[in-house]
Amino acid sequence: MPTLPEIDTPFMLEFLTKLLNTPSPTGLAEPAVTLTEEALKSFKGLKLSRTRKGALVATWSGEQDDGPRALTAHVDTLGAMVKEIKSNGRLKLSQIGGYEWNTIEGEGCTVFTRSGRQVRGSILLTKASSHVFGKEIEEMKRSADSLEVRLDARTFSSKETSDLGIGIGDFVTFDPRMEMNGGFVRSRHLDDKACVAALVTAVKALAEAGLKPARTTTLLISNYEEVGHGAAAGIPADVEELLVVDMAAVGEGQTSDEFHASLCVKDSGGPFHHGLSDRLRTLAEKFEIPYKVDIYPHYSSDGEAFWTAGGDVAVALIGPGVDASHSYERTHTQALIATTKWVLAYLLEE
Ligand SMILES: [Zn+2]
Repeated sequence: MPTLPEIDTPFMLEFLTKLLNTPSPTGLAEPAVTLTEEALKSFKGLKLSRTRKGALVATWSGEQDDGPRALTAHVDTLGAMVKEIKSNGRLKLSQIGGYEWNTIEGEGCTVFTRSGRQVRGSILLTKASSHVFGKEIEEMKRSADSLEVRLDARTFSSKETSDLGIGIGDFVTFDPRMEMNGGFVRSRHLDDKACVAALVTAVKALAEAGLKPARTTTLLISNYEEVGHGAAAGIPADVEELLVVDMAAVGEGQTSDEFHASLCVKDSGGPFHHGLSDRLRTLAEKFEIPYKVDIYPHYSSDGEAFWTAGGDVAVALIGPGVDASHSYERTHTQALIATTKWVLAYLLEE
């Protein structure tokens, strides 16, 4: 079997931990973009720049200049904004990205005020106490109206909350609660920080082996994916192929699991590029990368964003299986390694 450059798994998990612990909801993803930029800076050969929208672009000149390629993963995550300060001093939320309200019930959160202060709190039902509300609780529909932020501050009126420096439009981030046990990685926002870590680790493996990509390659670390237009801009016009690296949807009826990387052949936006998808399968087989082929029923990605924006490229999508996506997510190190190897195989494919 042909071999790939060696992957530094401890580095990958350490970088992923840092990234997961750096809050980066869409619209406030800058700290995570910077963290990724700092990591990529240490590898020779990459030219780094930012788009006006704030995404990170890394260009790596390849063995060949023709048929340039791009890969993308996103650092922005789900989150919320303060929609309203209620008369009881608590906060109503407006969602950033698509998720069910029940997935954040009981979660710890941080409000980022305009002055740079961080106020801690938690997201609870308006009728949270079972000793007070009893059976009523299970019948309540979880929604923007039935969930609120209880701040860890002495505030019982909208004025007291305003006096804390909190205002409409302040970002609210959810605690990632990252934990590693027996190879499993459990955290919010593995979508898509797991894949950003895979990309950075693949670059490290290639650079440290003294290699460069077969074709000139652009990496786009996008920062508006969760709201649908991340990679709409930032990919150079001469790029011929885009490999999107994003989580695979695990659940009933899916082939994807937490121990494999998946090739998504179709999502809500329709089929991906058949030729490029097929080449990725050939690469996975050649390098014995554990992979699945799957269709994601409720899913869109930066591939669709670029295609809809007019990108004239072949697009394919791979990524690690993530259980309970857009909820309390979990994957396994095996899926992260499989994804990283697949990225490496693609970078080196002539
Ligand atoms: Zn994603």
